[in-house]
Amino acid sequence: MQRPQRIWIDSPLATLEPSYANGLVLEGSLIVETLAAGQQPSAPVDQRIDASEHVLLPGLINTHHHFYQTLTRAFPAALNKELFPWLQTLYPLWAGLEPAMIHSSTQVALAELLLSGCTTASDHHYLFPQGLEQAIDIQIEAAAPLGMRLHLTRGSMSLGQEQGGLPPQSTVQNEQQIIDDSLRLIRRYHQRGAGAKVQIALAPCSPFSVSPQLMAETARLAASEDVRLHTHLAETEDETAFCLRLFGMRPLDYLEQQGWLQPRTWLAHGIHFNDEDVRRLGQQQVGICHCPSSNMLLASGQCRTLELEAAGSPVGLGVDGSASNDGSNMIQEVRQALLLQRLRYGAAAVTHQRALHWATQGSAACLGREDIGQLAVGKQADLALFKLDELRFAGAGDPLAALLLCGASRADRVMVAGQWQVWDGQLTQLDLAQLQANQRQLANQLAAKLS
Ligand SMILES: [Zn+2]
Repeated sequence: MQRPQRIWIDSPLATLEPSYANGLVLEGSLIVETLAAGQQPSAPVDQRIDASEHVLLPGLINTHHHFYQTLTRAFPAALNKELFPWLQTLYPLWAGLEPAMIHSSTQVALAELLLSGCTTASDHHYLFPQGLEQAIDIQIEAAAPLGMRLHLTRGSMSLGQEQGGLPPQSTVQNEQQIIDDSLRLIRRYHQRGAGAKVQIALAPCSPFSVSPQLMAETARLAASEDVRLHTHLAETEDETAFCLRLFGMRPLDYLEQQGWLQPRTWLAHGIHFNDEDVRRLGQQQVGICHCPSSNMLLASGQCRTLELEAAGSPVGLGVDGSASNDGSNMIQEVRQALLLQRLRYGAAAVTHQRALHWATQGSAACLGREDIGQLAVGKQADLALFKLDELRFAGAGDPLAALLLCGASRADRVMVAGQWQVWDGQLTQLDLAQLQANQRQLANQLAAKLS
């Protein structure tokens, strides 16, 4: 058998940690050497990549998204609204999604993420109207040419307006159908262990769109199948009021009652927690995905990132759906986190390294992974290289800080599992012009269904 190629990423301009200031040696899909300043590879390499003009980062990890929403960005009727009215405007539109739209929107979201230095993406898909029962299968097929790691969550909605929930009846599913399909997807696609390219997690949409029974049954299934749990929680004050009215308790108490307060769980947003909630979350190491752009756009509030981390919760980042951001740019999301969290905790407490840590190691911990999010020996060769050659960087001093402070938006080279998926700022395997034209046509088609 042929031995895997040895590649040296030689002497990057800047790195997140000093332990690999002189670069990395990769073999196949793994990092086999990290070179501190002045150190050389221990054996000859097949290829040397001169990284002297690049900032080297671990591949960024996005822990919350709704890929399909790239079809409804800046949707006129949903502009300038907060979460509940925003959702109520968009649900009827989303009920019209078709298989080709899932395919296209998945590729658009992933392409955007990949070009911004992201190598692992989680998606929360919870819409399975009639004819769209195979939505997750379609996502997996559509994602193949992008080569990214996927954490697809089998979302669900079962509490329609007739049962006191928020979504229209046509968008919710029967609970047995949800459980059966969750099990089917885990058995078919979930990969275990280091290097996994596809993982499945279970993700009832939110307290206001599923029943308590489905939450509890989903937690039991996740335990028996050993997969992770994900949902939206404590995003808005409307949600707290909804939980008090319908269940007679606050969102976190509700979560605990259904068996979700445990290390298997990561939550999107996690904003409206009191001190006692933060302590309980930390004690159970529940992960929190901070979504700064979405939280600002929908005026939802600010996540208590540093307090959650101090209590013991991993904190990661997510771009959230592209109808509440409305972009899927991961490096820009790191900048948003830096800015928003500085407003909360002050400049000295939220450094650029801290914000990058959330998007890498913090996000990896939210997804329950130890093989990604860090550039170290034995970890996966997932990395992003940024070049500071745009006008926005002219005159910049510290190259690592410049990525966030000057507003980097596009990576020059991105590798996933030892394969270059972005080279000189271009996707290596997908025609972007055609994808964009197709997406535009499908978005128009979807919008036309409402009129
Ligand atoms: Zn979301």
